[in-house]
Amino acid sequence: MGKKHVLVLGCNFAGLTVARFIREQAKDNVKITVIDRKNYINFIPNIPIEVFNGHNPADNLEFMFEKFLKHDKSEFIQGEIEEIDPVNRSVTYKPNERDGSPSEKISYDYLVIALGARLAYDKIEGFEEYGHTFSDTFYGNKVREYLYNEYKGGPIAIGSDRFIQGKSPKLPKIPVALAACEGPPVELGFSFADWLKRHKLGDAKIITLFTPAKTIAEDAGKKILNQLLPIVNNMGFGYINDTVGIKRIYKEGIEFRNGNSLEAELKIVFPNWEAHEFMKGLPIVDDQGFVVTDLYMRNPDYPEIFAVGDAASLTVPKLGAIGHMQAEIVSKMIANEVGEKKDVDPLNPMVVCFGDMGSHKGFYMHTNEWWGGDISVLKMGYTPYLLKMGFKNMYYTLGGKVPSWGIPLSEFVADHTLV
Ligand SMILES: Cc1cc2nc3c(=O)[nH]c(=O)nc-3n(C[C@H](O)[C@H](O)[C@H](O)COP(=O)(O)OP(=O)(O)OC[C@H]3O[C@@H](n4cnc5c(N)ncnc54)[C@H](O)[C@@H]3O)c2cc1C
Repeated sequence: MGKKHVLVLGCNFAGLTVARFIREQAKDNVKITVIDRKNYINFIPNIPIEVFNGHNPADNLEFMFEKFLKHDKSEFIQGEIEEIDPVNRSVTYKPNERDGSPSEKISYDYLVIALGARLAYDKIEGFEEYGHTFSDTFYGNKVREYLYNEYKGGPIAIGSDRFIQGKSPKLPKIPVALAACEGPPVELGFSFADWLKRHKLGDAKIITLFTPAKTIAEDAGKKILNQLLPIVNNMGFGYINDTVGIKRIYKEGIEFRNGNSLEAELKIVFPNWEAHEFMKGLPIVDDQGFVVTDLYMRNPDYPEIFAVGDAASLTVPKLGAIGHMQAEIVSKMIANEVGEKKDVDPLNPMVVCFGDMGSHKGFYMHTNEWWGGDISVLKMGYTPYLLKMGFKNMYYTLGGKVPSWGIPLSEFVADHTLV
């Protein structure tokens, strides 16, 4: 009998890591194929650091991953995924190096969906003309151009649109979030305030953070927010909650769904994280198109299908660190399927996040309080910044195969310099 074929869809954070962990755990017992429309990783969390240092983020944050897959004897196909057929265990994709290729079909024994999400900026009225963001290198560079060439020192608004979290009776119970991921707006607030100071253009007082929820970054848990929000307040940030979402962006500001508006020269927004169009309505997804899984990241109706990262319904908030934990679980689940005996613990979701605060300082957060746990660690100072940069280097060097000892090590070495 031939080797079981594992097909991994998507090769950014979650996809590359899971493909590499599957090879490590399942050894030679599987054939692995990975498909993505591009052949490089976009190292998204470090985009703000590059922008505030005046660099085009594309120069330093895109790295080619094919050599790592080759080293693992895994195959890579560059193509646009068009359709998943869970009943016939096949995926349709179009090779996309040149225009004009017909679609191809590929079958699988195990499918791992790591396709991330669609960031729905196109559904925010006025974004194209008046909005800015930091969630990819194109938009990061656009903000950089604006900051260094056009910015007039006016008010800055930073926040999220409403996230519509998927529902399904087949999902394990998890809390409901009204914003997809609010680490980035909080981090940007701090690093932007520092950039303004360094450029003698002001400080936190000209920045307003806004959230569609009752509290920004609710998933950080009450204990951390009780430390963080007074710092935000003392630094002089404006803060608006309960916006319900963004109605439109216009030249002079943002209008919210609760009827209020905020004046701003620079409108930095994060949108609704939506599922890809071709995922919606499949028999493996929730009512929004995210993949339904149990806590072992396995679909209950199609047990040969797994999901990791932002594409999974259980990934809330949409954090790379949660995708990493899921990648460890899925690699062991598949290893067990092909005869390698592994102990697997179910997903114990938590926020693990390194944020930049500018001037070589950062924060480190590790908490599962939002999910009912008792971990709650917040550290601020120089070491979290070094660890954030160190994580990028480790990720590049190891080709996404970052060991999980990264978490306790960070807590051990993080300093306590409060900013
Ligand atoms: C500014 C910012 C800062 C952040 N900071 C942090 C942080 O400090 N820590 C943290 O843990 N998380 C952070 N995040 C979140 C993190 O970036 C995401 O959770 C992570 O990128 C999700 O990884 P993923 O692989 O699941 O999805 P993605 O990174 O979205 O990757 C999906 C992959 O699928 C491919 N793909 C999609 N559709 C198709 C298709 N039809 N055909 C072929 N290929 C396709 C894409 O090309 C891509 O390579 C941050 C996010 C932002 C925006």
